[in-house]
Order: sequence, then C-alpha cells, then structure tokens
Amino acid sequence: MDDFRAWVRAELAARLSPRRADAHTSVLGAGSDDLVASRGYLHALAGSGLAVPSWPKDYGGLDATPDNVGIVRSELGGFAVPDLYPYLVGLELVGPTLLAHGRAEQCARWLPPIANGEEIWCQLFSEPGAGSDLAGLATRATRDGDEWRVNGQKVWTSRGAYARFGLLLARHDVSVPKHRGITAFALDLRADGVDVRPLRQMNGDAHFTEVFLDDARIADADRIGEVGDGWRVALTCLSYERGASTAGGTGGLLDVDRLVELARARGCASDPVIRGELARLVIDTRVMGYTARRARDTARAGRPGPEGSGMKIRGAALFKSYTALAARLLGADAALDPHGEWQTLFLTAPSISIRGGTDEIQRNIVGERVLGLPEEPRVDRALPFDQLPGASAR
Ligand SMILES: Cc1cc2nc3c(=O)[nH]c(=O)nc-3n(C[C@H](O)[C@H](O)[C@H](O)COP(=O)(O)OP(=O)(O)OC[C@H]3O[C@@H](n4cnc5c(N)ncnc54)[C@H](O)[C@@H]3O)c2cc1C
Repeated sequence: MDDFRAWVRAELAARLSPRRADAHTSVLGAGSDDLVASRGYLHALAGSGLAVPSWPKDYGGLDATPDNVGIVRSELGGFAVPDLYPYLVGLELVGPTLLAHGRAEQCARWLPPIANGEEIWCQLFSEPGAGSDLAGLATRATRDGDEWRVNGQKVWTSRGAYARFGLLLARHDVSVPKHRGITAFALDLRADGVDVRPLRQMNGDAHFTEVFLDDARIADADRIGEVGDGWRVALTCLSYERGASTAGGTGGLLDVDRLVELARARGCASDPVIRGELARLVIDTRVMGYTARRARDTARAGRPGPEGSGMKIRGAALFKSYTALAARLLGADAALDPHGEWQTLFLTAPSISIRGGTDEIQRNIVGERVLGLPEEPRVDRALPFDQLPGASAR
C-alpha cells in the first residue's frame, strides 16, 4: 500500500466509524432533512482535509491530485458516511465555483466553514419567470456606494430553510443583452430584507423555500467575480451541478441488489417479467457506471463538460425505472407507508428530471455541444434585456 493510502486509511479510522455491512444507501436528504449526521461527519474530518481533498490546504483541503482524490473516495467506502445532502451545494458547487471565480480573501472566509460543516450554502438562481431560461432572471441589484440593494424573488431554493449563505444571481444592468447584465453575489440569508418562506415537496422534504428580497443589502466585497461576470460564474456552478448530479442525483441511491432483495421478500424473484426488468436495471446501471467514469476522467482534465448532461438524462430515467419497479413489487403497501423509504424514493424520482436543469434542456446541451446539431433558434440573445418581450412586466 502506498504511503498516501496508508495515511488516509489511518486518519479515517481515527475519525470515523467503520461502515456497517447492512448500511443502506443514501436517500439524499429525501424526506429526512437530517443535519446532525452530516454536520457530525464534517466536524469529525475537520483539519484533516479529507472532506474536500482537491481543495487547497489553505482553505480546508489537501491539494490532492485527482488520483489521490480517487484514493480518498475509495478508502471512504470502508467507513460510515452519512447523507451529505444539506452540505452538497457548498461542498460540490459553491466550493469549486469560488475557487474558480472568488478572490483569495473570499475563499479564506467562506471555504473552511463549508469544509468543516459550520456553514451551509444554497443556490439562489431560479425565479418564477426564470428556470430553464435562467439568463432571463429579473431580480435586480442596484449599486449603492460600497453596497448593492437587491430586490426580487427566488424560488425552488433547496436547503433555503437552513442555509446561512446563498450564491445569488441578480441583474445589475437591463440595458445590455440578458447574459451580460448579471452579477453573482454571496447573500447572507440572515440579512435584513431577506424573507425565506417554506415550500413543502411531495416527498416530505421541508428544506425547500422561496426567498423574497426586499432592499436586501450586500457589501460589494461579497460580489463574486467582476460586475457582469455572473453568467460565467453561473455556468461554472451549473457545470459542477451536472457533474455532481451524476453521482449525487442518483448514484448514491441506486442499489439494484436491494431491489433484488425486495423481489425475493415479496415472492416475485422467479417471475420472468420481474427478472427481465431487474436484469435491464443491472445492465443500465453498469453502463451508467462506465459513462460516469468517462465523465469523471474528462472532469479531471478541467471542469466537467457536457458529458454531465448525458449522465443526468440517463440517471434520471434509470432512477425512475428503479423506483417504479420497487413500487410495483410493493403494490398497495407502497402507498400505505408514508414514511417508507421506497415511497420517499418513488416520490423523489420525478424531481431528478427537473432539478439542475430539465431533461429537455440537457438534451439541448447534448444535441448542440456533443452531437454538433444546429443550435435551437434564440431570438433574444443580442437584444438588450429591457427590450425583450415582457421585460416591462418583470
Ligand atoms: C427538487 C428541486 C430542487 C431545486 N433546487 C433548486 C435550487 O436549489 N436552486 C435553484 O435556483 N433552483 C432549484 N430548482 C429549480 C430548477 O432548477 C428549475 O425547476 C428548472 O431549471 C426548470 O425551471 P422551471 O421550473 O422554471 O421550468 P420551465 O423552465 O418553465 O420549464 C417548463 C417545461 O418546459 C420545458 N422547456 C423549457 N425551455 C425549453 C427549451 N428551450 N427546450 C425544450 N424544452 C424546454 C422544460 O423542460 C419543462 O418541461 C429546483 C427544482 C427542483 C424540482
């Protein structure tokens, strides 16, 4: 065993409990909103760099090479790792985005508390009129001396109920085309003028929110990137989101062996139709594993590419088939157990086709950036935002 692997194993053994053989797969926060276990895990790893090995040492990481990051991941497989869902925006999206666009003092302020579990972040992108067409967002940021005043509404904010900060996109200039008038900020959700209101999801999740901004003030020091750089910041964040959703969207959730166990427990394991469907899931899961490996290799060479979109489409479809088969095996029992894990997963599955960019949008990305198909017609690219149809209503 090489020195690095031996060190990682010893550090993990000193800080975490071994993984139990019967440990169940993550449900990605679905239905639980469990902060305690994930915070405990990050606290336990604090100071080791092992929670975010690729990050620089100064910001809570290890400066690890991609191969060494792989070693940390594989060694973690032997230990109890809870569902890190509450922290994923910080760990997987905001962290890498700040490393790409943040100033050194911003990284020093925000990254260590993400790595050690002290501060949770959310993503304040979507609005009632801007989801797939994110660049059409209408929340306004107006410069006021050393501060910005922000007014507008965000929606579908996962983790908004308990996040301390949000990566916010707001429009600072309506006189330029929509992609160019956006600036990114870190918004303190405890600031005056920020009203976080709960939205409950059908799977029981209670961390979902809408966020109203009424003259909320943000120091210019909390602007991320240059004024007008918001779209670049957003694209970085979204590329990591698609990359993360290859693992986070479904990867931790899909465990065909559990479905086989369920089929056995329900007395259906020798039903040829069920066996055929299980075999199909095994094949599709394997194929997805290979595609994920390819996407990871590309990501190692830089930031995640459009492969993440292909993965997300495939993962969403696979996860829906997986949970639908579980519901079929359980029959009426699936509906009768509102706290049952399978029911939660079944009710979570449709959202995977929407969150982080819908299946249709991912298909557009694959069509244009992987297959080289002609771009879909976009008539609003060059027009100033305030001359777009409907702009006066926003
Ligand atoms: C569980 C969950 C968690 C989420 N968490 C967050 C979060 O933390 N932060 C955040 O900012 N947002 C979050 N979102 C919002 C998510 O990013 C948006 O819902 C998504 O981008 C779609 O936007 P929309 O809902 O406005 O749908 P719309 O954009 O209005 O789309 C409606 C339908 O039209 C289709 N469509 C739209 N444009 C095109 C096109 N050009 N070509 C083909 N079809 C098209 C879409 O695919 C969709 O089927 C979350 C959503 C969900 C479901």
